[in-house]
Amino acid sequence: MISFHKVTKQYNGQPAIAEVSLEIPDSEFVFVVGPSGAGKSTILKLIIREELPSRGKVFVDEWDIANLSDQLIPHLRRKVGTVFQDFKLLPQRTVYENIAFPLEIVGLGDAEIDSNVREVLELINLAGKADHFPQQLSGGEAQKVAIARAMILRPEILLADEPTGNLDPQSAWEIMQLLAKLNDLGTTVIMATHNMDISSSLPHRKIHLMEGRLVKDTKDKKGKKEEN
Ligand code: ADP
Repeated sequence: MISFHKVTKQYNGQPAIAEVSLEIPDSEFVFVVGPSGAGKSTILKLIIREELPSRGKVFVDEWDIANLSDQLIPHLRRKVGTVFQDFKLLPQRTVYENIAFPLEIVGLGDAEIDSNVREVLELINLAGKADHFPQQLSGGEAQKVAIARAMILRPEILLADEPTGNLDPQSAWEIMQLLAKLNDLGTTVIMATHNMDISSSLPHRKIHLMEGRLVKDTKDKKGKKEEN
């Protein structure tokens, strides 16, 4: 469960978000929508503790992120995976090596790395491109690899900031299907987008921001979540 209690984040005295309160239960798929500058990325940065609230509290499960001990910060980063508009793949490494990278960092052995990476490559349907380098991939393929890398340590929560922003409509649709599949497998997915076509492509809950304020919270059209 993620919860914001009257959270304000200011930059240079100007609120990026103001008095935002919300709750995101485990295993939910939520869009954070609104025009550019509305505060969507700020919401995601607060969850991953890239920024701290100026006022109010952000909780990820029982952790108050502003008061997280140094030992718990790596645990938070492991609980929460991230993907971005610009993929952030390592250009000198192959698809396989990009996905394996987080497993190397945590010190897994080669055999275990291999079975994990192969499994995820099947999930994203890119087993045939394991030895390709990022520049040899389409944008949609690169984003699938970035998602695979974010998921390889099995985070409970996946934050996606405009993940379809650089993609053609067909690739964007495939990425949405992949995110929906990860959500079906139990991952909480929180996706920020300014693109209403994209956010309306799935029936899930939408948190609408406007100038840093939460202006509307629409329930999942499949009836999974209540309207606030
Ligand atoms: P969105 O993701 O909806 O485009 P952001 O959360 O990135 O919006 O930004 C919300 C507001 O906060 C904007 O006015 C933006 O200019 C401002 N902002 C975001 N990050 C910073 C920063 N590091 N320094 C100063 N202002 C910032």
